Amino acid sequence: MSSLNREQVLGVRHWTDTLFSFTTTRDRAFRFRSGQFTMMGLQVEGRPLLRAYSMASANHEETLEFFSVKVPDGPLTSRLQKIREGDIVLVGRKPTGTLVIDNLLPGSRLLLLSTGTGLAPFASLIKDPQVYESYDQVILVHGCRQVSELAYGEELVDGLRRDDVFSEIIGDKLEYYPTVTREPFRNRGRITDLIASDKLFQDIDLPPLDLESDRVMMCGSPSMLADLRNLLIERGFIEGSHGEPGHFVIEKAFVER
Ligand SMILES: Cc1cc2nc3c(=O)[nH]c(=O)nc-3n(C[C@H](O)[C@H](O)[C@H](O)COP(=O)(O)OP(=O)(O)OC[C@H]3O[C@@H](n4cnc5c(N)ncnc54)[C@H](O)[C@@H]3O)c2cc1C
Repeated sequence: MSSLNREQVLGVRHWTDTLFSFTTTRDRAFRFRSGQFTMMGLQVEGRPLLRAYSMASANHEETLEFFSVKVPDGPLTSRLQKIREGDIVLVGRKPTGTLVIDNLLPGSRLLLLSTGTGLAPFASLIKDPQVYESYDQVILVHGCRQVSELAYGEELVDGLRRDDVFSEIIGDKLEYYPTVTREPFRNRGRITDLIASDKLFQDIDLPPLDLESDRVMMCGSPSMLADLRNLLIERGFIEGSHGEPGHFVIEKAFVER
């Protein structure tokens, strides 16, 4: 168990039948960069049952937060969705991941493109003051099937804008664009289509995608990532990784099994 911290659950919120979030204590020695993930899970029948999870909290926060799917027959989340305040979760001590700003070349506008729980690493990044020091504009796009699935992100952004200290840091730099594919909503459609058609930029009254100024992070379903990657590569964007910064970086929100 030496590679795992035991953290106590401080609070749980259920957003929909398929989504919940929870906060835990944070070992003081557990350091991570906003946007990274680690292994997280439960002790099941005497053994750790772990899955990759992005920290949805920023690196400066005293507690940890996770934003999770509920897969009905998922080995971990069928159990994890039942956790309550006071329960123990296991958190790996070795955070990693590509969604960190050092993996991007300098730019002036940061696009954070997510679907579903792919929002989690960006929930962390939009709470990190360093992001607003590095970019003039941060555009957070969150795509879901249903309007109810947007609630976690909506509340998060609303909370940051209302916060006395944070609203000063964000100023008018943070643009939030939720979009839905299967229900009526003010913004509709898949992220790839909204970017390819420039509709996203028209809707928020900003210039279209531009290689010179724009840096992109994306986290979502494997199909969304494949489509967006193709679109960016067609436009001359180069993928970045550790030690080799590029115009965009990718993290899977989950792996199809
Ligand atoms: C780098 C990385 C970061 C991740 N971060 C998160 C996170 O912050 N929050 C989170 O909920 N999950 C995250 N995941 C997915 C997570 O690791 C597990 O797959 C998830 O918790 C379900 O675990 P399970 O054991 O219940 O089911 P699994 O056996 O792991 O998954 C069963 C099936 O459920 C589907 N599925 C799994 N996860 C998701 C998801 N997040 N959204 C939609 N469908 C899914 C897939 O079709 C998968 O094949 C991440 C995965 C990776 C690779």
